[in-house]
Amino acid sequence: MQMDIRLDGLTKTFTSKDRTETIAVNNLSVTIPSGHLVGLLGPSGCGKSTTLFLLAGLHAPTSGKIYFGDEDVTMLPPEKRGIGLVFQNYALYPHMTVYENIAFPLRNSKSFKEKHPAAAERREEIDRIVKNTARIVAIEELLDRKPSQLSGGQQQRVAIARAIAKQPKVLLLDEPLSNLDARLRIQTREEIRRIQQATGITTVFVTHDQEEALSITDEIIVMKDGIVQQVAEPQETYVHPANVFVAQFLGNPPINMIDADIRGGKVIINGEEAFDTSLADGSYKVGIRPESFILASDGGFEATIDFKATVGRDFQVRFDMNGKYSEALIESDNRIEVGDKVRFVPKMSGVHIFSADGNRIEEW
Ligand code: ATP
Repeated sequence: MQMDIRLDGLTKTFTSKDRTETIAVNNLSVTIPSGHLVGLLGPSGCGKSTTLFLLAGLHAPTSGKIYFGDEDVTMLPPEKRGIGLVFQNYALYPHMTVYENIAFPLRNSKSFKEKHPAAAERREEIDRIVKNTARIVAIEELLDRKPSQLSGGQQQRVAIARAIAKQPKVLLLDEPLSNLDARLRIQTREEIRRIQQATGITTVFVTHDQEEALSITDEIIVMKDGIVQQVAEPQETYVHPANVFVAQFLGNPPINMIDADIRGGKVIINGEEAFDTSLADGSYKVGIRPESFILASDGGFEATIDFKATVGRDFQVRFDMNGKYSEALIESDNRIEVGDKVRFVPKMSGVHIFSADGNRIEEW
């Protein structure tokens, strides 16, 4: 089913009892293409959940419009929007079996009853859908169990099955993996991607975890203080962050942000002419990804290694540039010790230059 989602100037303002206003979502305009899995990413309080609640019809917007395909759904109640919702806490019915949990919303759906008025036919159709959905989310052998007899990951798959059984036009997931341990989180996120691709349902996935968003989405919408910072493919947000906030939010260890002057076509780092640029003289912010430092015998800039840890195949080192610290990931076949004075030349693909007020400068 083709179903793109279009948000047009969507704004939600909350007014508290003492009349202070919070603009939770501020003039959000974005189109989510049909069949895509889109991540809503940002720190706590940036307006992700509010956006999802607006999409679900659980909040009414202060202004702006929401379209599912050509239909303006802004004022439609949740049950008329054709959405499937999955929250962080799975909210399964504890006294029902997995089978019953998936079947329940169908049994209670007025439109489903209208479509299948004969009770026997309805029962058969529900049975077919439950089994088919269970197959898609790989829980066929768990249908007779109660939720308490399932692991967290299995419970979350049941919640997803319940949400997609009604064949929603749009699937909305609010931090669906937060309650799972690290290993299960990775497994389940891959599972979500697989299920989403198998069903082709346009899906919006709220997360504060940049790695999660980078790994399974088609596009990421990065938000801060209710305002969209960037909408782009995951790789694009990493290699072309629109501003300092996006650059710092994506990547682990985080990007190093260095205040640097440019003088006479040279970027000055730690008092040295570290590399060339075509930008005009002035003060800039230079972001360098930790994996983008190369040890060299000349060029670049000098720094003193202050801390070293082994992280998988790499050394994670912190280095001191006259009291300012940055971090680098260096392949562990390099001999490098705390106290060493080394020279780093940045790889240009990992260098991002921003204006002093934090916006990306494209040509440099
Ligand atoms: P988290 O990751 O912590 O859930 P979030 O990005 O989902 O954060 P929202 O829950 O959308 O953020 O909240 C955005 C802003 O709106 C916050 O400042 C929050 O305090 C405020 N807010 C959210 N819901 C309400 C409400 N019902 N009444 C008043 N303010 C609210």
